[in-house]
Amino acid sequence: MHDETECDGGDATDHLAGVWPDSSLCPRRANQRLPAALADLEAWLAEITGFAGISLQPNAGAQGEYTGLLVIREYHRQRGDHHRQVCLIPQSAHGTNPASAVMAGMTVVAIACDKAGNIDVADLQAKAEQHRDNLAALMVTYPSTHGVFEAEIITICDIVHTNGGQVYMDGANMNAQVGLCRPADFGADVCHLNLHKTFCIPHGGGGPGVGPIGVKAHLVPYLPGHSLVAGVGGHQGIGAVTSAPWGSASILPISWMYIAMMGGKGLTRATEIAILNANYIAHRLAGHYDILYTGQNGRVAHECILDLRPFKKSADIGVEDVAKRLIDYGFHPPTMSWPVAGTLMVEPTESESNVELDRFCEAMIAIREEIRAIEMGRVDRDNNLLKNAPHTPVDLVSDWNRPYSREQAVFPTSYTRLAKFWPAVNRIDQAFGDRNLVCSCVGMEAYQA
Ligand SMILES: *Cc1c(COP(=O)(O)O)cnc(C)c1O
Repeated sequence: MHDETECDGGDATDHLAGVWPDSSLCPRRANQRLPAALADLEAWLAEITGFAGISLQPNAGAQGEYTGLLVIREYHRQRGDHHRQVCLIPQSAHGTNPASAVMAGMTVVAIACDKAGNIDVADLQAKAEQHRDNLAALMVTYPSTHGVFEAEIITICDIVHTNGGQVYMDGANMNAQVGLCRPADFGADVCHLNLHKTFCIPHGGGGPGVGPIGVKAHLVPYLPGHSLVAGVGGHQGIGAVTSAPWGSASILPISWMYIAMMGGKGLTRATEIAILNANYIAHRLAGHYDILYTGQNGRVAHECILDLRPFKKSADIGVEDVAKRLIDYGFHPPTMSWPVAGTLMVEPTESESNVELDRFCEAMIAIREEIRAIEMGRVDRDNNLLKNAPHTPVDLVSDWNRPYSREQAVFPTSYTRLAKFWPAVNRIDQAFGDRNLVCSCVGMEAYQA
């Protein structure tokens, strides 16, 4: 059991103690209601982000955004600034950002991005000054969803503060920061963490989420409370945002275990490898595909965007054709058409081995050659490996009258001969089903008999 007065409450914490010696939130253990593992987690997340207080309550990144904005709104209200309702959001933002801002009662003002994918600082300056009397917040993602570290991030935060606003940082890309830099150090007032992305259920692996927020000291009083459990949140806290006082009991222990087992050094190493892996892919594929955005030194952060838009014209090949063909090569396709329509966003994280990264790059390079064959007119534009992908076992055993071999279709690489993933169905017409609802209920007649 944990000793309420001591900060190093067990083996796992000892393990971290050398790296994060003065966990400022340890006094929180005095709150007897907070389970020990959650107290650890709050302290660790505070240490990792540099924030004074953490709320584990929000159950998703989007809910963390909503909570963080409500906390900011409450801060302004307590100062008599009820009119501060303008929320600046860059065009590169995740769709949840404007949605959360609107739900928090704010008015969204868009900020332009430059050609390199960064926030257009001149536009930010102009809009912040224009709205200075009503400015509530800026929502900024760092590194940006374009996969670059905004070199101007400190200036960006300063501009917002100078004009009376608070900085909300979307921490979904924290996998590129943990152990290297901390949002609270370069100007964020609030930040959510997607534990299901960064700590440690694999990004894109699905499943339930958790989106705790961290806040600077001046916002701690407004952290969400709970109507049934005393001692949760700040003393002037906003109302609960979920029914459970500390969020998801099923996910938080996973993040606790991940942090405890990785330790400070391990977490930092994971961040470095995540950035290295993304740059490895960007570098290997650069001669074959355009990498949409890079930073000053020609590098990306922890993800890279492959621009497939030119192939629409040259070969009538779209991003979905490449995504489906990747299934034949044994890959679950990466994020498609976000944050830029017609592109693939690849985020390998630290979890993929070098062999796996090479296998992916080789598949992408081979697919590029398949596209080239269409561009050169050697292959039909409508009836080809990409348009017909993915290929199923049923295709294989049915009559074969395609302009390419069965082998090219299902065993495009030596690896696929060794370990083949067989898709069960052919392509389904993209979003058609989502947009054309069909009622599958049987009519009342069915019940008459
Ligand atoms: C995933 C993501 C979110 C939303 O997080 P959820 O947990 O899915 O609600 C917000 N912003 C960015 C940049 C993200 O990648």
